[in-house]
Amino acid sequence: MAEPTTLEQFRMAIGGKLVDALSGRTFESQNPYTGRPWAVVPDGGPEDVDAAVAAARTALDGEWGRLTGFARAALMRRFAQVIDDNAERLARLEVNDSGKLHREMIGQARGLSSWYLYFAGLADKIEGRQIPAPNPDYLVYTRREPVGVVAAITPWNSPLLLLTWKLAPALAAGCTVVVKPSEHSPASTLAFAELATEAGFPPGVVNAVTGLSRETGAALAAHPGVDKVAFTGSTATGRAVAHAAAENINKVTLELGGKSPQVVFPDADLAAAANGLVAGVFAATGQTCMAGSRLIVHADVHDELVGLVAERASRIRLGDPNDPATEMGPVANGPQYAKVLSYLDTARSEGATVASGGGPDEGLGGYFVRPTVLTGVTPASTVVREEVFGPVLAALTFTDEDEAVKLANDTPYGLAGAVWTKDVHRAHRVAARLRAGTVWVNAYRVVAPGVPFGGYGASGLGRENGAAALDEYLEDKSVWVELSGGTRDPFTLG
Ligand code: NAD
Repeated sequence: MAEPTTLEQFRMAIGGKLVDALSGRTFESQNPYTGRPWAVVPDGGPEDVDAAVAAARTALDGEWGRLTGFARAALMRRFAQVIDDNAERLARLEVNDSGKLHREMIGQARGLSSWYLYFAGLADKIEGRQIPAPNPDYLVYTRREPVGVVAAITPWNSPLLLLTWKLAPALAAGCTVVVKPSEHSPASTLAFAELATEAGFPPGVVNAVTGLSRETGAALAAHPGVDKVAFTGSTATGRAVAHAAAENINKVTLELGGKSPQVVFPDADLAAAANGLVAGVFAATGQTCMAGSRLIVHADVHDELVGLVAERASRIRLGDPNDPATEMGPVANGPQYAKVLSYLDTARSEGATVASGGGPDEGLGGYFVRPTVLTGVTPASTVVREEVFGPVLAALTFTDEDEAVKLANDTPYGLAGAVWTKDVHRAHRVAARLRAGTVWVNAYRVVAPGVPFGGYGASGLGRENGAAALDEYLEDKSVWVELSGGTRDPFTLG
């Protein structure tokens, strides 16, 4: 493994310029695989957030605010090209920051442009309506206007993908954006904001602020100059963000955590289900909001399916995220590593049986955790109720469809889920009964720009992706035009 001799330097993008924090402070970003710092980024605070929000407002009131949807679409298409041209570098930055596999992050980086192209296709189709009025003296129509300055706050697990789910519709709508990436993975977002300037977006349309303290995100979420907050992260932080947005009577979208069920019926193709379970909870080291972390399996096939998953889990190759043969990287940071291990301790103390994994990878050390399959849990077990955000699968059994649905829905979350069966009637019936924003049938972990994604319950508010995601970044304005030229009784309505 090549060790960098010097740390890479990054700067914030504010008003089209690359800047340091006003305080001059910086912090180091750690590579969770090497355990060493690899980058230096600005340690911005509330005063930098002020500057970024002011720059975003100036851009909204300036050249950008006057561009047509056609012109915004053209810029977005150029941005898509610039992203494609830089995909390899962006993937490398994300691997360094998060320890996620290069093969996953290059796939994500190459996919980002499809979001900008999809929403560019909508930018020039934002239409108001002419509405029939009961009084013929009026022409009434609506205008669809950008909501304004958007605060985009993102987590560490897939910084650019989750930013893109916000930025692409925001730009299509004509908004300006201030993004605050996680203190655990700040670098790729700073590089990305620089690329937005390179693509030709006017200064201040895309701004990025980084900070070590969680206060920086809090300052952005609560900023009076912000009109909408788009947040992805934990449910606890999402609640604080929702409070802050409510204080300002701001629009808010929240993409939060999950405890997604994978329901496997006895007629399912068990080899395919086992593969889907591995994809659902061990890919990305289980650090995805949509992780399928609860296996709900018919009692008749429990042993066979758990055996298949445990066997595959025991063969998963852990190691260097940049090695194409590696299947699972480390957990992304120290606090998260400690959290995963503490959930495994709790599971054991509550009586769970370890079918595979169960703790750190002794050979590799660092933040490596063996992919873990737990049985002998109950619907009340902590590991069944709480989001681990790590490579931990907990298995429960059922004997009939109603019980399966009840167990699947027995969670405060509702982000995603899967149904594994060859029975087409049951597949659609159960998909309809699961309280989750996404249900895959005989599949797991597929997303696309045109398909809405978001959560029921504690998993969030609103949807990202899909044409309707644009609505989250638009305001409707009704315009009434008096046609007769006459006067009216000023003391009556309408
Ligand atoms: P987190 O909630 O700790 O942090 C998310 C972001 O919020 C970070 O940028 C952080 O600095 C910022 N922040 C912290 N305190 C804040 C505050 N008071 N106000 C505003 N911003 C604040 O989440 P994390 O640990 O970075 O990410 C993991 C979590 O994200 C998991 O729970 C996971 O399920 C969730 N997640 C959800 C989705 C989804 O689409 N639903 C996707 C990925 C991750």
